[in-house]
Amino acid sequence: MASPTSKKILVVEDEHDILQLIKLYLEKEGFRTVSAKTGTEGLQQVKQEKPDLVVLDLMLPEIDGLEVCKRLRSAPETAMLPIIMLTAKAEESDTVVGLELGADDYVTKPFSPKTLVARIKALFRRLERKPDDSSAHYRYGDLVMDLARHEVTVKKIEVPLTAKEFGLLEHLLRNPGRVLTRDILLNTVWGYDYYGTTRTVDVHIRRLKQKLPSLNEAIISVKSLGYKLKELDRSA
Ligand code: CA
Repeated sequence: MASPTSKKILVVEDEHDILQLIKLYLEKEGFRTVSAKTGTEGLQQVKQEKPDLVVLDLMLPEIDGLEVCKRLRSAPETAMLPIIMLTAKAEESDTVVGLELGADDYVTKPFSPKTLVARIKALFRRLERKPDDSSAHYRYGDLVMDLARHEVTVKKIEVPLTAKEFGLLEHLLRNPGRVLTRDILLNTVWGYDYYGTTRTVDVHIRRLKQKLPSLNEAIISVKSLGYKLKELDRSA
């Protein structure tokens, strides 16, 4: 795996001064940068440059940041691409929409470049945590998933799950806070050659919620995209 300092970051920002400032700081930290000044250009650059992360301004000419985010999340190649959104204080409701649409984090303008760099590094760290060294356990509140035993317990009482329910839950627990599209879940849990429809995912999520009422509110349905597991307090 490439060292974190050689990662490539796409900055999509139409304000020249802010764009230059962000690039300067990122390059000082050893990141490679590419930039775009409109939403359309941003989408093109994602295709061409294949960045490791996107810093995406909300207010952009042509296609705004929310739409860019939505399009990136709905394409399988970019569904998991890390996105940090830049928003202004006045756009707080949009920020919430941005997070629902799958931005991984956001930074409110005016911001210090140091804060942005810190958030980017934190996001990379979070994503690079290897699931395999988690001693084969996932915890979420009272729930514990033991991968080796293929067992899920809530308050130490076993909850029997089917293989697909287990797979779905594992993928959610592995990616807290991220929107997982129905296609991604289908491909990961059922496999690429599965002939079912995305409806299958909805049915299984509903059953999972019935078996695990404590996750009822934690598994959030994201309009027209898929599902996400609400992130627990990061210090937990
Ligand atoms: Ca802007």
